Amino acid sequence: MEDIVDWSFTREWINTNPLDTPCSAKLSKIQGNKIKKLNFAHPTIDIQQRNYPRLYPRGIIPCVECNSAKDNNEHIGLCTAHTTIITQLISDASDILLTLMLEETAEQNYALRNTIKESKLFDISFELFLFKDHPFYLLIHHLVPKDLTDIFYNYIPKKKKRFEIFIKFMNIIMANIDAHIWTLLKIKRNFIGKTTIQIMIVRIRTRTSIDKEIILVINIIPIFPPLIIAVVVSLITTPIFDGRRVIFYIRVLENHIEIEFGSI
Ligand SMILES: [Zn+2]
Repeated sequence: MEDIVDWSFTREWINTNPLDTPCSAKLSKIQGNKIKKLNFAHPTIDIQQRNYPRLYPRGIIPCVECNSAKDNNEHIGLCTAHTTIITQLISDASDILLTLMLEETAEQNYALRNTIKESKLFDISFELFLFKDHPFYLLIHHLVPKDLTDIFYNYIPKKKKRFEIFIKFMNIIMANIDAHIWTLLKIKRNFIGKTTIQIMIVRIRTRTSIDKEIILVINIIPIFPPLIIAVVVSLITTPIFDGRRVIFYIRVLENHIEIEFGSI
């Protein structure tokens, strides 16, 4: 990674201040979030399980998007469920870069177009998912790839101007990456630890030893966005009986909740 990341531009990006005030709690939060992402320490489920063992079920919890890989920092950007949006983000990023740079180097229009087109950073020929040594994977993790800064060095000779356009570009593209990948995942992931189903057992009437009539009242809290109870599948955690109440964790997939029932 050492030789493909431009650390001086990465530092510039981390330290940039998008706010009007020189220092504030909000600014340290913005910078702290970027640092977590580039250090692969963003609170994905594996980290949350380690930090809050009482809030999360044990065992491997899969990614909330593809439901097949382990949910960790490394997986962000490689998820098959994100391939379409990542392809779109890459192609938007190349258009944005071209527009911003043409404002400075209009006379090099043809060469610049060609450089951007040929850059590995904007290569969208991958099929199933982005691969780990793709420069855009680094960018998703707030690490600035040399493939990007090479373009700036080649076309914008003045240092101050170079950083200025670079920051403009990063502000736009990273806001898109954060919104479509990081924030969306975070919202969905939040359901895993915090959403519980409370089942109130109102009446259990046993007719024979194998024939039970069970009436349940199910409260699901909180529900955002509106979720549909759809499938009953295998068990994640053993339901905990607390008098008349049963509480257990659920898994949220797209607009479905997988409800885990044990034998009652
Ligand atoms: Zn995934």
